[in-house]
Formats: sequence, C-alpha cells, structure tokens
Amino acid sequence: MLKKLEISGFKSFAKKTTLSFDTPLTAIVGPNGSGKSNVVESIRFVLGEQSIKSLRGKGGSDMIWKGSKLLGPMQKGRVAITFDNTNRQFAFSNSSGAPADLSFDEITLVREVSMDGGSSYSINGSGVRLKDITELLGSVNIGTTGHHIISQGEADRLLSATAKDRRGMVEDALGLKVHQVRIRESERKLEKTALNMKEVQALRRELAPHLSFLGKQVEKIQKTEELRNEFAELFRQYAHDESSAIVFHEARFRAEEERARRELQEAQAKAAPSAADPFVSERSAALARLRECEQKQSNLARTRDDLGRALGRIEGKLDALSVTAPVSGPASISTARVEALCSDIVTAITEAESSGDAHILRTAFSQLKSKVQSFVQSLRGSAPVVDTTSIKAGIEAERATLEAQLSSIDQQAQEASAALVEARAVLANIEQKSMEAQRSSFSALATIATLEGTLRECLLRAENIARRKAVLADEVREAEALVGGVFSLAQEGREDTPEISAERESLHRKLERVKIKLEDAGAASGAEVLKEYEETKERDAFLLRELTDLESSITALRTLITELRDTIERAFKEGVEKINTQFGEYFKLMFGGGSAFLSISVEHRRQREDEEPVDSDELPFEHGIEINVSLPHKKVRDLHMLSGGERSLVSIALLFAMSQVNPPPFLVLDETDAALDEANSRKYGNMLDLLSQHSKLIVVTHNRETMSRAQVLYGVTMGVEGASKLLSIKFDEAVQIAK
Ligand code: ATP
Ligand code: MG
Repeated sequence: MLKKLEISGFKSFAKKTTLSFDTPLTAIVGPNGSGKSNVVESIRFVLGEQSIKSLRGKGGSDMIWKGSKLLGPMQKGRVAITFDNTNRQFAFSNSSGAPADLSFDEITLVREVSMDGGSSYSINGSGVRLKDITELLGSVNIGTTGHHIISQGEADRLLSATAKDRRGMVEDALGLKVHQVRIRESERKLEKTALNMKEVQALRRELAPHLSFLGKQVEKIQKTEELRNEFAELFRQYAHDESSAIVFHEARFRAEEERARRELQEAQAKAAPSAADPFVSERSAALARLRECEQKQSNLARTRDDLGRALGRIEGKLDALSVTAPVSGPASISTARVEALCSDIVTAITEAESSGDAHILRTAFSQLKSKVQSFVQSLRGSAPVVDTTSIKAGIEAERATLEAQLSSIDQQAQEASAALVEARAVLANIEQKSMEAQRSSFSALATIATLEGTLRECLLRAENIARRKAVLADEVREAEALVGGVFSLAQEGREDTPEISAERESLHRKLERVKIKLEDAGAASGAEVLKEYEETKERDAFLLRELTDLESSITALRTLITELRDTIERAFKEGVEKINTQFGEYFKLMFGGGSAFLSISVEHRRQREDEEPVDSDELPFEHGIEINVSLPHKKVRDLHMLSGGERSLVSIALLFAMSQVNPPPFLVLDETDAALDEANSRKYGNMLDLLSQHSKLIVVTHNRETMSRAQVLYGVTMGVEGASKLLSIKFDEAVQIAK
C-alpha cells in the first residue's frame, strides 16, 4: 500500500531523501536528534496535518530546512508520499462533485510549504485542495485524527484523549469518517438546498403578484380578443349586408335614373313647342266659312224683311183696290220718285245677283218690269181707264211673285242656317283638336316635371349612396384598425327590404355596443403582455419545478443523512464490539490476564468557546468512548493510576486492537516501545508481527527487540553538514547505531 516517502528541504532533511517501504515492517533507527521523528512528522505533514504545533513548529517556515554552516537554507520544504493504487482504492470527487479520474497504478501526494507558511498540495502532479487530500485519504481509511501515526511521547495518546476524541479515533480506525464526511457534505448540501429553497420560494413570492397581475391582464386580453372576434364577425356580416344593400340600391337608382332620363327625353320631345300652330290655317278657314254663312244668313234675313215689306205693300194695294179706285189727272213726276225707282231697281238687282239663284233673278226681273211699267204709266199723265180687275190681277201676280220669292228666301235661309251649323261644327272640331293637342303637350310637361323630380330624387339617392359608401368605408377603416384585419365588401347586390334594413340596423346597433365595450377594454394588442405572461408563467413553473427538485433533494439528503447516521451508528457499535474482543485479547496478552473493554458513553456535548453560554443540559447528547481496564491481581481501575509503562501498554493494546479490526494502510509508531521492559518488548514485537500482516508498519525505535522484527532498517544520522542523512543498514549495524 504505502510505497515510498520522499523528503526534501523538510526540517532536518535538507537534501532529497527517499525511503522505500517494500516490506511489512520498516524500522528507523539512529541516535537522538538525528531526525527520526522528523521522518514521522514528514508523513503527518504530507497527509495534511494542520497543526504546526503538533509538528513541533511555530509556523510553516519551521518546516523548512533552516540551513547550517555548511548548507544554506531552503526556500521551501517538500514531502511526497507514494501509494500503490493497482486495486484502484483511491477516490475523490472533483470540484463539480463527479468522481475524479484516478486510474493510476500509483498515487503520489505532494505537499510543499513555502517561507510564508502557505502550503500547496498535489495529487499525481495536479494541484488540489486540502479537502481533496482529506477525501482521498478517507477513501483508504486514513482518517484525519491520525490515530495510526503515533508520534514520540504519544504512546498513551489513546488514554489521555477525551472520550469524544477517542470516539473520533475509533471512528477513524473503523473507517467511518468517510460516512461522516459524507454526512457533513450532505448537511452542507442540505443547508445550501434549504437556502436555495428559501430563495426560490422568495422568488416565487416575489413573482406571484406580478403573475397574478399578468394573469388578470391576460384574462382581459382574452376577453378583449373574444370581443374583437365577436366584433369582427358582426362587422363582417354588417359590412357584407350594408355593401350588398348599397350595391342593390345603387343599381336600382341607376336603372331608375336611366329610365327617367330616357322617358324625359321622350317627354321633352313630345312637349317641344311646334314651329307653327298646326290648326291656324284650318281654324281661319273654318272661321271664314262661318262668317260667310253668318253673312249669307243676315243677307237672307234682310231680303226676307224687304220681301215682307213689299208683300205688305202689295197687301195694302189690294186692300185699296177693293174699296174705290179714285180717278185723278196726270200727276207730275218728281225727281225724287225717279231716284226712288232707280234705287229700288239697283237694290233688287244687287240682291238678285248676290243670291245667285236663277229663280230669285227671274222673280226680281219680273218685279222690275212691272215697276217700270207702272212708273211709265204714271208719266203719260193721262188717266188710264181704270180697270181694277186687271190691276188687281197684276197686284196679285206681284203678290204671288213676292210670296214665291219669300218662300225661296226661307228655303235659302234654312240652307244657310244648316251651313252655319256645319261651319260651327267644323270650327268646334278644330278647337277640340287644338285643345287635345294642347292637353297632350301639358301632359308631357307634367311628365317632364315628374321625371325631373325623379331625377332630382335620383341625385339625392346618389348622394345618399355616396354618403353611405363613405360612412361604410370609414367604418371599415375603423374596424380594420380596431381588429387588425381586412374586411372585404360585397360586389353583388342583394334585395333590400324594410325588414332586411331593420335587421341590418339592429345588427349595426349591436355592433356599436360591442365596439364600445371593445374600446373600453382597450384595443391595444396584448402580444407583449401575453409574451411576458407566458415567460413569467414559465419562470414560475420553472421555479416550482426547481422547488420540487429541491424538496425531493432535501428529502433524499435527509434520507441519506439518516441512512448514513444509521450506518455509522450500527457500524460503530459493531466495530466497538469487534475492537473490544481484540482489545481484551491484546490486553490479556500484554498484562498476562485481567480484562479491558471500551464502553460507549452518552453525555451532553461540551460547550464551545465561541457559543453563547447555555445550560449544559440543553446541549445535545453525543457519544464518547470510555476505556475500562481491570489489571490482573490489582484493584486499579482508574486509568490515571496506571504507571507510565502500563499506560503505554493499554494504549498500544487498544491501538493494535483497532488496527486489527480495520487494518489501516500503514501504522507509524515513534518510540511507542520506549517505556517497555524487555518482556513487554517481546510481546510488543509479537504484536508488531501480527499487525504487519495487514498493515505496513514503520517504527522508530531504540529497542533492539523491535529492530529484530524489521525486515528493513533505515539508519538516520546527523551528517557533517548538520543535516539528517539516511542509510539502509543491517540489523547489527542498527544495534550498533542504537547503542
Ligand atoms: P530522538 O531520538 O531524541 O527522538 P530524533 O532522531 O527523533 O531524536 P528529531 O527530533 O527527529 O530527532 O530531530 C531533531 C533535530 O532536527 C534537531 O536537532 C533540530 O535541530 C533539527 N531540526 C528541526 N527542525 C529543523 C529545521 N527546520 N532545520 C534544520 N534542522 C532542524
Ligand atoms: Mg525522536
């Protein structure tokens, strides 16, 4: 196990000195002050001894070769110890907690101390911390108590130690320190974990209000999102309905407008005033005819009147004739009479002419003949033979003519009257037609007015449509801004009835309500809040997982600690029992009888100086180890009452018992046999033989008996340079040196 030791610049070993431990028992011999104990101390030093005082120094620099007259001082002391590791016993974990790679056949630990007292450690050339050395040694049962290295003057060390320290040494010897190290590590981890847990809990607590705030925000956002979706859905419907209604109305009014324009054109064509009144000539012709008829009628009336008067005169003449016909001389003819006659003739001719009637003409001529004849008779101045009969006949003939004329005139008057009626009818007909033409024109004007009204209405409707379009466009823009989407409008119209319109209105009102709600909820996008919420939630979940992990590692650590404690407890009790068996044996062997055993004591832990003073009862219990001895033939049981040799023997017996139960890789004993007499030295030698079967033994001795048991002897001498020198020697030389 232990292979070699290399000392240089350490204490009295100025130059590099190597000790090989190839045999079970190696003895180091030499005169006083030669440096033997320095070899033992070099082993404790390299294994990480922290108490410089226990290495007989005041400071780290005392461990370095101080120099002599012949050999100058060194700047650093170095000790290297090499172990066999072919069975890969050595182990320690690196800084990250993972097992370090120690797949080497040899493990060499080096400790160097510099003048400032600082130490550095290395394992196979790699710098490590003291903790790593401790862990590494722990893995091969080399504990920190150093119970297996008994320095000079410490032969009764196990006896003089306190119950608690003894317990430590027993635990060390039993290899329980590894578990304790693990317990301490686990406890440290536990503390750290608990601290972490508190931190994580604090973080979660810190996070909680923010998370809840964000949660509420997200709820709001989701509600807003729902509102937005609802709004978008409603608006899509509304925009579609409204746009299709607009398209429908637009198409309808356009059609109507087109029709109105067309009809207007037609009506305007109809109502256009003609260049000339179509009835003017017709009417004037009819009027002329009417006037002609009226003229004729009045002429006839006058002729009739004349005829009537003539007839009256005839009637008068006839009446006169019937009374007496007076005879008178020739009468003078006045011009007036001639003129009257002429006038009558002219009138009769004119009337006859104007009538154009042949009968009337004839009558007129016959009347004229008789008129003229009667006038000529009157001119002759002779009284004619009055023949009344002929006169009467003449007058009657005249009357008949007159009456014939009268009846002709009546006839003509009748005809003229009929002609007048007809002329009037013709005129009335023309007026009628003219009126109708006018009425038609008026009706066209009225149609124009109506159509113009319709067109004006169409204009209003166009404006209305344009307004609706603009409003819808605004609404679409607003909606798009509000929900961040795109709304398309219908390209095709859809029949719009008042019911549909009312439905749309109600939809619009609903939309407005949702919009107000949406605006109240704040239309801002919650993407960032959502992201933050998700992140915070994730962080919280992470912390929760962390917490769960921490909790489970706390549980695991607690379980581990409990298990380790149980293991230690069990192994300790079992170990103590085993040690007791061996201890009793060795004791009997050393003292030739009697008995000795260890007992586990339980007492309150002692108060440390740095602790607040408390009642000792309040301090926790801790186990200690008590040594109980019963010497043969003596009543002494108190350890203090034992002799120096007896103390050494008890201590050695116990050390050997402990080493027997759980053999350490090596045992170093510096003059542990100093106080033994010859007989006991032999027994001591026997025990060394026994122990060397399991552990390597390095003994510093002046005892011949002890030397005789060693396979290798190193002689240490003080050279001329004042530094320790090492030489391998034979037993006889050793005996010589020892003397
Ligand atoms: P003994 O048989 O009496 O126990 P020893 O062989 O064990 O003697 P050590 O105690 O090992 O002797 O050696 C002590 C010697 O080492 C002293 O003479 C001391 O001067 C010397 N020494 C100790 N420290 C140093 C140092 N730093 N530099 C030089 N010499 C030192
Ligand atoms: Mg010594």
